[in-house]
Amino acid sequence: MGTILVVEDEPDIADLVKYHLEKAGLPARVVGDGKQALDLILRERPDLVVLDLMLPGLDGLELCRRLRGAQATRGIPVIMLTAKTEEVDRIVGLEMGADDYVPKPFSPRELVARVKAVLRRTAAPLEPSEAPVIVGHLRLDPTRHEVTKGGQPVFLSAMEFRLLEFFLRHRGRVYSRTQLLDYVWGQDRFVEPRTVDVHIRRLREKVEQDPRRPTLILTVRGLGYKCRDEKE
Ligand code: CA
Repeated sequence: MGTILVVEDEPDIADLVKYHLEKAGLPARVVGDGKQALDLILRERPDLVVLDLMLPGLDGLELCRRLRGAQATRGIPVIMLTAKTEEVDRIVGLEMGADDYVPKPFSPRELVARVKAVLRRTAAPLEPSEAPVIVGHLRLDPTRHEVTKGGQPVFLSAMEFRLLEFFLRHRGRVYSRTQLLDYVWGQDRFVEPRTVDVHIRRLREKVEQDPRRPTLILTVRGLGYKCRDEKE
């Protein structure tokens, strides 16, 4: 187990969180400034970042956006802390790529439980990108660029293949349309978010047992899509 970085400028809260994480066997470090946090994350690659929204230097949303924008830090899970409890902030946090969100005031034990849950979810053994991915009745082979469903070949467009591979490799995590555009479509800026829905519909028609009742690529109302995690 590596280190959790707690980015929080209120010393009382930071100490409390650190204390409870360490009591749960999770070594933690505290930093109170957004810019310093970014430097530290780039240098030390913590296993998870607990990130306060309101920070001096660089605020939590901007910091999260930068982490998600850089190859080296994209995979580091982030749990956002904030005093704002409106649903809109929750969505903005997830839009920026936070893995979970804990509104203040929170119980430290609840936070520790969330940290453990996110670590469990993201610690699934990282398969080398060449290895086939097998989920339920589906098997995706990146080297051969082949997908089979119950042993039968499925013919996907290049983009459908990329989208499916992305979902299968990031199971259990919710992605907004904008995030999917960023991660899967990349630099192609002429694509509008609705395109994501169209691709997902086509993909479901090819890979789901019953496309009208998807069990693999799920819609998360108001947020986006996620690939079902086998443990769910
Ligand atoms: Ca703060």
